[in-house]
Amino acid sequence: LSLLNQIELAPPDKILGLTEAFNRDPNPDKVNLTVGIYKDNSGKVTTLPAIARAQRIIDHHDVLNRNLSYLPIKGGKDYADSVKNFLYDESCAPSAKSAGYQNTPNYGKDLLANNRISFTQTLSGTGALAICAKFLSLFVSKKVFIPNFSWANHKNIFSSNGFKEFKNYSYYDAKTGQLTVDQWLKDLRAQVSADSSKEPSCIILHACCHNPTGLDPTREDWDKIIDTINELKMIPIIDMAYQGMESGDLIKDAYVLRKCIDPKYVCDNGIFLCQSFAKNMGLYGERVGSLSIVSPSNAPPTVKEAVDSQLKRIIRSIYSSPPGYGSRVANLVLTDPELKQQWGKDVQNMVARLQGIRNDLAGNLDWSAVNDSQQHGMFFFTGFPLKTVQKLRDEYSIYLTDDGRLSLSGINDSNIEYVSDTFKTIRQ
Ligand code: PMP
Repeated sequence: LSLLNQIELAPPDKILGLTEAFNRDPNPDKVNLTVGIYKDNSGKVTTLPAIARAQRIIDHHDVLNRNLSYLPIKGGKDYADSVKNFLYDESCAPSAKSAGYQNTPNYGKDLLANNRISFTQTLSGTGALAICAKFLSLFVSKKVFIPNFSWANHKNIFSSNGFKEFKNYSYYDAKTGQLTVDQWLKDLRAQVSADSSKEPSCIILHACCHNPTGLDPTREDWDKIIDTINELKMIPIIDMAYQGMESGDLIKDAYVLRKCIDPKYVCDNGIFLCQSFAKNMGLYGERVGSLSIVSPSNAPPTVKEAVDSQLKRIIRSIYSSPPGYGSRVANLVLTDPELKQQWGKDVQNMVARLQGIRNDLAGNLDWSAVNDSQQHGMFFFTGFPLKTVQKLRDEYSIYLTDDGRLSLSGINDSNIEYVSDTFKTIRQ
């Protein structure tokens, strides 16, 4: 008998499986509010102006575009240099007006100058998290703390890549709709101090635009959180998939990164940053992102060399080398001052439209939670229980994720009335 016969049907993906169901739905009024893709008012996934211009430049330069050869295992040097510069110099610059971190040295610049960052281009944020998990589980730890509400793929990625122990920390109280930072820190203290093994624990931190709740700790909260993580010798994994999408300001949104690279916080086992240009550059399908591993200041240079070599070995065994085109686009945007400026505006425009939809929805529904100024980003976390979410899907063909998360830019002039009316009916 074939072993293949014994394979059980895997459950549909918690998010992408819903789009498959949506595509099968014959209702002409159906609305897909599941996936975090930015759409314009006509429901289209448009190319950001900065990206479109970069594409045109690349298309007109044979040398830039026509080389379809392999990239190196960790991606091109140009991309590595421009992304590292963007993340660790610009995003961490204390002189940046919005940084809120003035009068401190530019730690990121120091990291670059001292060659302490092992960097690799990755297949977007998911790829960064997967390589990160594989690396950690092989060499450092197989334990991770995930917030009690999180992106459904986190656990999936870490369990597929060698992690054995999953713990939750209290992030959000569904009853009050508030963050529970004090409880979060209590959870960490209780669980980490009760753990007598030598293996350190990792912790996933959503850098901004927490998915799914849209609620992020304040800067004061983050200061307390990073203090505690450091005190407990935990390994931070910063998941930065939405830089710029919280405040409209790319630099402002990198607060957690700036904070974590302060030498007093870089733990002996390093810092891991998983970063994506899918949302803020709209490069979703091109799979453009990065993983960087910051080694502590007292690490001898051989540490970075060894880390780099192991990253290469891991990547070589999975996909050999990353794709070229999207990273060339991102590199050009990051290095051409005009395109860079346009990109900043593009991000601001997306955030402004998302806020506009929040306001419109709140106005229609007389539901202050919608534009509660504390929720940010691409999503509105409705707080609808699963029963309601299913009813919306089955009876009205309005698709939210099971946790009640709604992707705001899927709402537009042609469906806002239908969505608002349905929500009013369903909340009665
Ligand atoms: N982390 C979080 C929290 C996300 O919401 C996403 C996108 N849905 C990602 C990482 C990675 O996305 P991508 O692989 O498209 O960059």
